[in-house]
Amino acid sequence: MTPSVTTTAAPATPSPARDILQSVFGYESFRGPQEAIVDTVIAGNDALVLMPTGGGKSLCFQIPALVRPGTAVVISPLIALMQNQVAALVQSGVRAAYLSSTLDWQQTQAIESQLLDGRLDLLYIAPERLVTSRMLDQLSRVQIALFAIDEAHCVSHWGHDFRVDYLGLSVLQNQFPSVPRIALTATADPRTRADIAVRLGLEKAEVFLSSFDRPNIFYRIAQKQKAMDQLEAFIRREHSGDAGIVYCLSRNKVEKTAESLNQRGIKALPYHAGLPGHVREENQTRFLREEGMVMVATIAFGMGIDKPNVRFVAHLDLPKSIESYYQETGRAGRDGLAANAWMVYGIADVIKLKSMMDQSEAAGEFKREEKNKVDAILSLCESVQCRRQLLLTHFGEHMPEPCGHCDNCVEPAPTWEATEPSRLALSAVYRTGSRYGVEYLVEVLRGERSERVVAKGHDTLAVFGKGADVSEKEWRSIFRQLLARGLLLPDIEGFGALRLDDSCRPLLRGEETLMLRREQSKTAASRKTGGKPALDIAAEDRVLWEALRAKRRQLAQEQGVPPYVIFHDTTLLAILEAHPVSLHEMRHIAGIGESKLERYGEDFLAVVTEYA
Ligand code: ADP
Ligand code: ZN
Repeated sequence: MTPSVTTTAAPATPSPARDILQSVFGYESFRGPQEAIVDTVIAGNDALVLMPTGGGKSLCFQIPALVRPGTAVVISPLIALMQNQVAALVQSGVRAAYLSSTLDWQQTQAIESQLLDGRLDLLYIAPERLVTSRMLDQLSRVQIALFAIDEAHCVSHWGHDFRVDYLGLSVLQNQFPSVPRIALTATADPRTRADIAVRLGLEKAEVFLSSFDRPNIFYRIAQKQKAMDQLEAFIRREHSGDAGIVYCLSRNKVEKTAESLNQRGIKALPYHAGLPGHVREENQTRFLREEGMVMVATIAFGMGIDKPNVRFVAHLDLPKSIESYYQETGRAGRDGLAANAWMVYGIADVIKLKSMMDQSEAAGEFKREEKNKVDAILSLCESVQCRRQLLLTHFGEHMPEPCGHCDNCVEPAPTWEATEPSRLALSAVYRTGSRYGVEYLVEVLRGERSERVVAKGHDTLAVFGKGADVSEKEWRSIFRQLLARGLLLPDIEGFGALRLDDSCRPLLRGEETLMLRREQSKTAASRKTGGKPALDIAAEDRVLWEALRAKRRQLAQEQGVPPYVIFHDTTLLAILEAHPVSLHEMRHIAGIGESKLERYGEDFLAVVTEYA
């Protein structure tokens, strides 16, 4: 895939919003529903914006903030998020600031007086601070352009990042009834969305629902063999020098994986809730500021990572639902350039997930729901259908054709008639008394006279040796798929023993047949997408590309901001493609507004002249 970096602009009637889009942010045209949203809010109406990560939500409130008189108040759940957004706005010449507990008294005072004097276009605040009487009192004394509620799913119990402070935001409609409110989220879960509208009093707001497809992400799910080797091969082949996130289930595994990547020469940092706060913060900052860093993390790392150039998200463990999978993989490729979602999983993961669900304390409806979620993610993994079609269908979207940009589309997995071996597997479970795990069962099926098999007398069973012609690996794959389909269940104790589920009876009685996915030899884990690096810079452009990156790095370091706050990769790529030779030409590059042109135009022009 060649990244497309130029925006094709339809010349349109001038408007204040468009002017700002071009002069401040340096973009030629609005994207998707942005313009309609911006117009709604400028007109003073409420909006509920449901747009995937990378869709361009920020401009939907930043532009009205500059068009409407007064200060826009942005509610955001995380300090790091606020800091980066404010840094980026200041780079574009916007009068933006944030109030947070990290500021000392003097800094706070300075910002408050800017607010009271009407010298701020945007003010970012955490929800718990907004609802204090001091803050509400100050806000009642100034003109407010709008309220923007970012990461609005934090208000919902159904969401993954519920924040009790968000519930207090209902105060806004009562205290400031005439100020327009815009709530934004990337949550794809319909129930959470409905909940947001109710809890924020936005039932009458105009709803802007975008497709949740992420066309630049390539989805790949493969069988786990030697997970670390597979991960290393994947990173080396396709993401050498790229930033990425590797998700693991446990803290311990996070630490081990990060260590192992470093030993293998891939720069990696750990992140999980068990690390001291200052270490987490430092690792997060390094991930944002240094290029080509891999973050190995539990799900504690996630919300509010607005780093646009995360080039891959890898899962070494199965997420517990499709919602989580989509949320986590969605952190890749926010800038719209090619990115990979890569996952390996194996039979042990299936057993772990299923027994976790069994042992869960949840009762009744909630438990049934958990089970459905686990079943859904497993069927996504095992399916031979287009992954994107399955994902979007799950979120209630219809996609008529296979996407052509996932492993199952690019390299379709064959299915095979597996009725007979499946019946053998089930009867091996039954005949050995539902007390053994996969490894043992495979020994019996393959007719291995191991000490333990002989000791138990299982070498005399009718199924003993009946499956000698099926390889060990194939047997594991069969067992995994039987488990994933719920025909087999793990034991409650969690020791890995398997038992039959009632649903396997028709198959055992010969009333049903079963088609299973045939595992690819060598596995698709590291093949296809051509094994190409995600950002494919032509050989003759490499020198200039590296020089542009070095310049950006230097400027970012001088100011203590992440490189993407200076310019996004998309902007650097556009410079690479256009080879601008004057400031005038530089001005036409997407992502370079007037302020950035003035600050950095000459610097980058010099680099182009020197290296091109
Ligand atoms: P979100 O908050 O929805 O995840 P962002 O607001 O961070 O997305 O935008 C994602 C990327 O798209 C950013 O790199 C942003 O600069 C870029 N972008 C947003 N709107 C436009 C536009 N109209 N034209 C070009 N690029 C845009
Ligand atoms: Zn597909």
